[in-house]
Amino acid sequence: MSATSEIFLDKSTIKATDLEHRRKINFNIGRYNAAVPKGKEQFSDVHLARERAKNIKWRAIETLDQQLEEFEKVFTQRGGKVVWAENAEEAIAEIVKICEAKNCKTLVKSKSMVTEEIHLNKAMEEHGIESIETDLGEYIQQLDGEAPYHIVTPAMHKSKEDVANLFARKLGTDPALTPTELTLVARNILRKKYVQAEVGVTGANFIISDIGGVAVTENEGNARLSCAFPKTHIVVVGIEKMIPSITDLALFWPLLSTFGTGQKITCYNSIISGPRQPGETDGPEEMIVILLDNGRTKILDNPVQRESLYCIRCGACLNACPIYNNIGGHAYGATYSGPIGSVITPNLQGMEDFKHLSFASSLCGNCTEVCAVKINLHELLLDNRKASVDEGLTGFTERTAWKLWKLASLNRKMMNLGSGAFKNKMVNGIFTDWKKNRADLHFSQKTFNQMWKERFK
Ligand code: SF4
Repeated sequence: MSATSEIFLDKSTIKATDLEHRRKINFNIGRYNAAVPKGKEQFSDVHLARERAKNIKWRAIETLDQQLEEFEKVFTQRGGKVVWAENAEEAIAEIVKICEAKNCKTLVKSKSMVTEEIHLNKAMEEHGIESIETDLGEYIQQLDGEAPYHIVTPAMHKSKEDVANLFARKLGTDPALTPTELTLVARNILRKKYVQAEVGVTGANFIISDIGGVAVTENEGNARLSCAFPKTHIVVVGIEKMIPSITDLALFWPLLSTFGTGQKITCYNSIISGPRQPGETDGPEEMIVILLDNGRTKILDNPVQRESLYCIRCGACLNACPIYNNIGGHAYGATYSGPIGSVITPNLQGMEDFKHLSFASSLCGNCTEVCAVKINLHELLLDNRKASVDEGLTGFTERTAWKLWKLASLNRKMMNLGSGAFKNKMVNGIFTDWKKNRADLHFSQKTFNQMWKERFK
């Protein structure tokens, strides 16, 4: 068993029995579940909308090389710069180079999972640069020294009392502050940072190839401030975020907000297509888009797993997943949690270390049912399991057990050997690990042959 797998088992075992954790998650996901059906009412046919979105993403991913080159051509024509980063190290090296050239001491950052993936904050800290999260949920997590818990709502596992106590501990505020007052505290701190920061970093929800722009969706206006105040704006984005045309946003924006939070449309939707142009009054002097691969072309190379690149990170599959609901986001030990995390993490970060995530699923298919772009998530989980077996990553005991099972299952005489009581004793005595969290297996007292004969005599 890999070290990551052991940590996963330990953390998930603790969380699964933490009733207070479950209460908070159920409360927050309950609110989400109440809001989403209302958001869906805006679509005359939500299934058709999802199908269309899937088709658009299919086209974008099947022609990704051309779409990326088109984006680069148009974006650079407006004075932007594009950097191709093969991995996290290259992306970080580029950001550090830019920050050093700008003599950057403070960097403001809007919520972005891809910057979590490359561990940007840690890298900035190592280079003596203050990197401040400006999304309220991310700011709370940063203050607490924790990674985001959920790809859309980073502090979903915290109650308002938890946040008030955290602010009291870290910022010296009154622990009785209300959510509105806590928001004002954060806002006062962050507003100063936007003005100080030499560099702003954002992610992007979509890369738009025909206009050479990026689309950023948010509810707090912090991404707009992060890219408009500092003189330099860096966008870090995974190459799979591509959509072919600006007109596709008419579908993707409402789809992302409905499946992400239940809103009809998110509060702030920005399209940024380059640095400040002559005659314009605001915007950064320089804009750099870092197109990150970091394992995505490996997924692209796999005709089955390629579908996972359609993901628009709405988070719906996390909210619908019984495993995520029980063990929470941190137990996964990966940037992307929930069903989509369990599909892509083994392919992005290595099957050997993360194959266990694809096994941590009941395969109920609820994730596939709710996915905004109809990704066959549960089948991709199965495909990962198969890949891990094909790669020989299963242990000796497991391999031997399945060989014996196959041998016995294909041999009627062996199946009929022994009474039900004998089988109960043998199997429940052997599979002690399986039984740790499960009741005993109970075999039928009669064999299938006996029952068949009795029925048709
Ligand atoms: S896999 Fe589907 S449901 Fe899950 S985050 Fe991505 S788009 Fe949303």
